[in-house]
Amino acid sequence: MLVRTPIVVVLNQVSVPTARQLMTALPGAQLYGLASRTTDVDVSFANFGDTVRQLYREGVPMIGLCAAGILIRTLAPVLTDTKTEPPVVAVAADGSAVVPLLGGMTGVNALAEKIATVLNVRPAITTTGKLQFNIVLPDPPMGYRLANPEHVKAFIADLIAGVSVSLDGDAPWLTASDIPFAVTGKRTISVTTQAIPGSLERLVYHPTSLVLAITQPSQFTITEWIDVISDRLTTANLALAAVACIAIPKTTVGAAIAGVGKICNLPIRFVESAQLPPDLTVISHDPNLTIFSAKQPIDPHQIGQAQGKLTVVGTGPGSPQWMSPQVRETIRAATDLVGYHTYLDLVKDLSVGKECHGSDNRVELDRSRLALDLAASGKNVVVVSSGDPGIFAMASAVLEVLDREAKPEWQTIDLQINPGISAMQAAAAAIGAPLGHDFCAISLSDLLKPWEVVAARIAAAAEADFAIAFYNPISSQRSWQLAAAKEILLKSRSTTTPVILARNLGRTGQEVKVITLGELAPASADMRTVILIGSSQTKLIPRADGSNWVYTPRSY
Ligand code: SAH
Repeated sequence: MLVRTPIVVVLNQVSVPTARQLMTALPGAQLYGLASRTTDVDVSFANFGDTVRQLYREGVPMIGLCAAGILIRTLAPVLTDTKTEPPVVAVAADGSAVVPLLGGMTGVNALAEKIATVLNVRPAITTTGKLQFNIVLPDPPMGYRLANPEHVKAFIADLIAGVSVSLDGDAPWLTASDIPFAVTGKRTISVTTQAIPGSLERLVYHPTSLVLAITQPSQFTITEWIDVISDRLTTANLALAAVACIAIPKTTVGAAIAGVGKICNLPIRFVESAQLPPDLTVISHDPNLTIFSAKQPIDPHQIGQAQGKLTVVGTGPGSPQWMSPQVRETIRAATDLVGYHTYLDLVKDLSVGKECHGSDNRVELDRSRLALDLAASGKNVVVVSSGDPGIFAMASAVLEVLDREAKPEWQTIDLQINPGISAMQAAAAAIGAPLGHDFCAISLSDLLKPWEVVAARIAAAAEADFAIAFYNPISSQRSWQLAAAKEILLKSRSTTTPVILARNLGRTGQEVKVITLGELAPASADMRTVILIGSSQTKLIPRADGSNWVYTPRSY
């Protein structure tokens, strides 16, 4: 189970000292405070309900210094699967009570106990198994996986009813509990790396004490590797859930094997052979794959180096509401953020405790190289773009460097791209549906391509009657391009064509105006403006307040 750093939420200043006190037990935790009522918090929020529901959806463990009822009512509409939901704890504002509310299977009791210890109170644990046997069977500690969670509820009920149980195998957390283990019992708890089936009579825990060591990752394709691994585990009667990680040599190109890690949900670790713990025993070996076993569960972090991760994300045009939950989650999980200073500022709330590598806007390729190198060293790197990362932004820059310079160590990186809302979409939504039929996007910048290419595209798009989104319409070094673009458009489009000027979308000073093509002038736009040019079919609908909707019909 991945243990994420919790967030502590307060609604008033009185709770802040208690919050800070309990946070001493939670290294890296951030304090969220209601903007109108708190000061000196790490992150201020305006809306309690939206913030708490968003954190819950993202799976962030949460401690609310407020009435349990407030948290319950707030989260009720979004409650999900008990197996995957994050822990939620309510703590009295004065620290006198700690109530684990949600996340019984994902560690809430352990979290509540940790907090209660620093506050010097007893947590209000209500989980029956926990009360009776001082153990949470559905939520084993790190290093153990429950193979049959579907049977655990009935199993606990039987134990509470006094049905006898024996322990087959060895696990300190089980022997330290108050379960009265008998030598033989009607029920059994097994702790084993063997692939034995669980049932209502038998709970099976797999200690993660196996390592799959692969010497030649490029030997097979992803699908072949999955077959090889599953065959070898089956032959040895070993459970996949008992595998702590896949270890591959640092020097090999491991792109395919990274895919195997994802499909099998196993971490990939890059090792020099000397980095495997010395006390491992070989339990199965052939030239492709060696299965090692340790006496105790293995923490994969202790083995070699992580597979680096690089995700290029788009934050949307500006407003936090336009950032996707996926992007938020990716940024939260990152160790390093790379991007243009202004864009890193847009995600300040999410970047506490991370290495931030801010740079000037015009060094995209250097920035990409830096991000790839950081990821190749095992970091979890996020490159932050505004809007969509694939639209005139960093995703192409990263792929361009990857393609051109092709450093072998970059091949090991788990590379992902998370989409975002692009400026043209936000602009269109603000005014109606001007991009409702065929449209295209053109950057007016001639810094990265010659003006002749830009001019030819504008002419072709105008002639083909596309609605057009102009990005990068103008800047301090480029002042004449917009006027030149207008001249080209006027050859095949009328002066009355609706034009939308959308500036600072989702940011302070947002402005969306409708003018005509005839009125378009260089002064109409700046580098924070996206311009939408209507097609010959784009129309206006007057609104009661004197403004207009602008749309392009679906059919004509
Ligand atoms: N990847 C971005 C585009 C980057 S190019 C996206 O998908 O939106 C930069 C250009 O995008 C700016 O010159 C401007 O034309 C447009 N732009 C980006 N953010 C904007 C915003 N918040 N409001 C208006 N235009 C914006």
